[in-house]
Amino acid sequence: MLPSHLYVHVPFCARRCSYCDFSIAVRRTVPVTDYLRGIQRELAAVTALGGVTSSSCDLSTVYLGGGTPSSLGAEGVRQLLTTIASFAQIARGAEVTIEANPDDVTPEAADAWAAARVNRLSLGAQSFDDAALTWMHRTHDAGRIGVAVRSARSAGIDNLSLDLIFALPPEIPRSWTRDLDQTLALSPQHVSLYGLTVEPATPLERGVSAGRASAAGEDRYADEFLEAHDRMTRAGFAHYEVSNFAEPGRESRHNSAYWTGAPYIGIGPAAHSFDGQRRRWNIKAYTQWLATLDRGESAVEGHELIDAESAKSERIYLGLRTGIGYRAGASDRATAESWARAGWAVIDGDLVRLNAEGWLRLDSLAAGLTGL
Ligand code: SF4
Repeated sequence: MLPSHLYVHVPFCARRCSYCDFSIAVRRTVPVTDYLRGIQRELAAVTALGGVTSSSCDLSTVYLGGGTPSSLGAEGVRQLLTTIASFAQIARGAEVTIEANPDDVTPEAADAWAAARVNRLSLGAQSFDDAALTWMHRTHDAGRIGVAVRSARSAGIDNLSLDLIFALPPEIPRSWTRDLDQTLALSPQHVSLYGLTVEPATPLERGVSAGRASAAGEDRYADEFLEAHDRMTRAGFAHYEVSNFAEPGRESRHNSAYWTGAPYIGIGPAAHSFDGQRRRWNIKAYTQWLATLDRGESAVEGHELIDAESAKSERIYLGLRTGIGYRAGASDRATAESWARAGWAVIDGDLVRLNAEGWLRLDSLAAGLTGL
């Protein structure tokens, strides 16, 4: 089956956020021309392998993620989408998403992105509290978030998602309730939540080790997650995946493809691809990724065959993390019923669906199923 979902990793960020362990390239000036040359070469290589052809592959979703894709600017994003369209057809009605830093969403940039077929914007808002944004080492202030939303809407991009981070360290005087209020006041179609975790080798981890910061406890994490669930669902959003809320019909089609096990192609440094059986991943470091492609070599660093055991575990985990649920076999029935009695899940025929309380325990519950 030819994938109809394309992910493009744009690794550039102006600086590293305090909590971030992603594969990024910190650049004050983004090397747009060099990056686009790498993308052109990788797309040519993928096409030659038969992964994508302009005549046989209609992309139903394109996702520009990062890093900070919006740092490519108005012209860089236009050129990127033009390059993609020269290798693969972007279907009519395709969902074309760009992740954006609020600072980058100027009226001119939004107009150019909309003209280039971007129709969904995922905005890294994170908080509406300037002190929290400074602590996170974000480049934007709270005032820029509303400006970005208005610029996108004026350009005709009306499918807007806001990212928020919860469970900040207790010493950060940020009101989660106020952040949820401010989010809803902007009437987004979609909201993604990220619970802050202390990842190794991040500025946050160094701060925690030195006693300058502390991690939020489990109670704070649970309280804020459940508060968000309550507020968002009362406002008419569906909590359709453990970390995501959407107005009806505005679920992320691209991410939903991942969660249902659909094949996809990923290009750019650190991007992953999946053909239904095998997962491949690219070289992580931007300079090495580009140099490899410039030498005419493959950017793929490794691959793994998803064997029956791994496929079963993924099916369980993916099913439980979404509102679709997991089709439990007879061997898992008693376990699922115990979850329902504990108030963590509902059972609908042979489907078991976790609720917000269950999603707080997702990893341990998924580990308890056999999938037989
Ligand atoms: S903008 Fe995103 S990818 Fe870039 S440093 Fe911050 S968290 Fe990491």
